[in-house]
Amino acid sequence: MAAPVVKMLVFDGDHAAAGRWYYIALVLLVVVQSVPRLARRLANLFPAVRENSYKRKGPVNPLSLLIHRATYLQLPFWPYYSTRTVLFVVAYVTLSAVFAAGSIQLRTSDAGYPRYGWLAMTNLCVAVLFALRNSPLYYIFCLPFERTIEFHKWFGAGAVIFAWLHGGLYLRQWVEQDVVDFQFNYRPRLKFGPATASVLGLMILASLGPVRRKFWEAFYYMHVSLFLVAFILVNRHTDYALPYTLPPLMLWSVDRISRFVRGWLRPITMSAVSYPGGDVTRILVRQRHFWGRAYNAGQYVFINVPRAGLAEWHPASIVTAAPPEAPVSPTASFPQKLVAAICGGNGGDSNAEYELIFKNVGKFTRRLAEASVGGQKLTARVDGPYGAWDVVADSYGLVVLIAGGIGVTPIMSVLQTVLNNSAQQQRDGSASSTSLQNKSRPRVVELVWAVTNIEHVSWFTGELSAARDMGARVRIYVTRSEMRNDHTVAVAGEEGAPPFEVEFGRSDLVCVCEDIKNSHPDMDAAVGVCGPASMVHSTRDAVRRCSDRNSIWHLHSEAFDL
Ligand SMILES: Cc1cc2nc3c(=O)[nH]c(=O)nc-3n(C[C@H](O)[C@H](O)[C@H](O)COP(=O)(O)OP(=O)(O)OC[C@H]3O[C@@H](n4cnc5c(N)ncnc54)[C@H](O)[C@@H]3O)c2cc1C
Repeated sequence: MAAPVVKMLVFDGDHAAAGRWYYIALVLLVVVQSVPRLARRLANLFPAVRENSYKRKGPVNPLSLLIHRATYLQLPFWPYYSTRTVLFVVAYVTLSAVFAAGSIQLRTSDAGYPRYGWLAMTNLCVAVLFALRNSPLYYIFCLPFERTIEFHKWFGAGAVIFAWLHGGLYLRQWVEQDVVDFQFNYRPRLKFGPATASVLGLMILASLGPVRRKFWEAFYYMHVSLFLVAFILVNRHTDYALPYTLPPLMLWSVDRISRFVRGWLRPITMSAVSYPGGDVTRILVRQRHFWGRAYNAGQYVFINVPRAGLAEWHPASIVTAAPPEAPVSPTASFPQKLVAAICGGNGGDSNAEYELIFKNVGKFTRRLAEASVGGQKLTARVDGPYGAWDVVADSYGLVVLIAGGIGVTPIMSVLQTVLNNSAQQQRDGSASSTSLQNKSRPRVVELVWAVTNIEHVSWFTGELSAARDMGARVRIYVTRSEMRNDHTVAVAGEEGAPPFEVEFGRSDLVCVCEDIKNSHPDMDAAVGVCGPASMVHSTRDAVRRCSDRNSIWHLHSEAFDL
C-alpha cells in the first residue's frame, strides 16, 4: 500500500507536479479544519435542526461522542494546543516528510535537494495565502484571519526549514567535491539562494514570541518588508518561482489595497474617554459601511489613532451587540440563505456605531488614554471588522460565556447579541400564530468573568445589569484582590439595580461548567471563552467533561494574540 503512494509521490523527477500536489494537499489540510464550523452554519439554515437542538430528542451516538471528546483532549506536554492543532501539525509534518522522501527514491546524486527547493516555495506561497486579513477563504470556508494566522506560522516555519535543507545539502555536497567556488562562479543566480534562505531565517527570528510581543511594530514592519525582499530574491534565484510568488503577491496586494481604501482613505471621528484611575479607555466609533451587516458579534477591528501612534494599528474587539439582522425570508432561495449564513445575515443600518475598550497596558494604549483625557473627538482609522464567533448561532439553547480580565470585550458583544436574539425570537414566537415551541423558549445564558481587581467590574456595570435583567446569570470571580472573610460580597450594579454577587478566589471552571450542566442536563451548549491561555485550557477541559450522551458542548476560544 505504502509503496505505490511513495512511487506516485516520486513524480518521476517532476518536481513541479510534486509542488502542485503538495500545494493542494496543504490547502485541503487547512480547509478540512473549517468543516465543523461550516456544518454548524449550514445546519442553522434548517429550522428543523434549530428546533431539535434546543433539547436533545435522543442520546448522542457513542462514536460521535468519542470523536467529539477526543478533539478536546489536553496533551500533557503541549497543554495549550487543542487536539485539532496537534492533529494538523502531525498531518502537516507527515505530508511534508512523504513529499520530501518521495524524491529520495530518484537515487540521483542530488536526490532530494531540488525537491526541497520546490517544497520551500510551496510553503512560502501558502504561508502568504493564510496571512491575508481579507481572504476568499474566509468567505468560502468561514476561516477567519485569527484562525488562519496559526497555519501561516507553521507554513512559514516549513518554508524556512526546506529552504535551509535545500541550500545546506547542496553546499555540503559541493564542499565534499571541492566545487563551491566553481558552482557560484559558473552559475551567478546561485548566490540569491543563500540570500533568500538568510532573509527567511531572519524573518523567523524576528517572529519568535518574545521578540514579537516586546517589539510588535518593529516585528510587523520588518516581517512585511522582508517577505517582499524574499520574494524578489527567490525570483532572482530561479525562474520556477514565479507561479509560486505571483498569485499570493497579487492576493496580498488586493488585501492591502482594500485595507488602505477602508482605513487610510476613510478617516473616522471617534470620541474616547479614559476611566478614572486610567485603567481603560472607552472609544465610541461612528462609521459608514457599504454592504451587509456592519459587524457581527465578537468581531474585532484594527484601529489607528495618529495622536497615539502615527503608523500603529492595534486590534480591539467590539463590545457592542451586533445590529439586528434583517431576517432572511423563509421563502428565500437556498443560495440566498447560504450567502446570508456565511456573511452573517443581510441588512442592517449603514451607519454603524460601536464601542471599543482598551486596557492600558503599553505605549500605545497609555498614549491613547492621555490623548482622550477630556473626552474630545479624535481622528482615527479603522480596518475591519474581522473574526467569527459561532456561539451566537440560534441552534444552541444553552450559551456559556467565560472571560478573563479584558478578554471580556468580545464576550460582552456576544452576550448582548445572544440575549437580544433570544428576546427577538420570543417576541416573534408569541406574535406568530404558528409559533414554534422551542423558539419561544428563552435561551439559557450564563456569564463567568474572572477579574484581578474588584474595581474592574465597574467597566461594564451597565451591560452586566442589562444582561441580568434579560435573564442571564452573571458570576464574577475576583482572583487577586485581598481575600474577604465572608468570601462573597455584593458589588453595586447600575443605580437602583440589585448588586452583583462576587466571589473571591480563582474560579474552578470545570466545577462551574458541571454545575451549569447539572441545571440543564439535556441541552447542547455553546461555550465561548476569551482570556489567558490557562483559562482557555481549563475551559477546553470542562467542555470535554460536560459532553456526554445527553448533550454535546462546543467551544469557541480566543486569546488576544496574533
Ligand atoms: C484579536 C484581538 C482583539 C483584541 N481586543 C482587545 C480589546 O478589546 N481590548 C484590549 O484592551 N485589548 C485587546 N487586544 C490586545 C491589544 O491589541 C493590545 O493590548 C494592544 O495592542 C497593546 O498595545 P500597547 O502598545 O499599548 O502595548 P504593548 O506593551 O506594546 O503590547 C502588549 C501586547 O499586545 C500585543 N500587541 C501590541 N501591538 C499589537 C498590534 N498592533 N497587533 C496585535 N497585537 C499587538 C503584543 O503581543 C504585546 O505583547 C486584542 C488583541 C487581539 C489580537
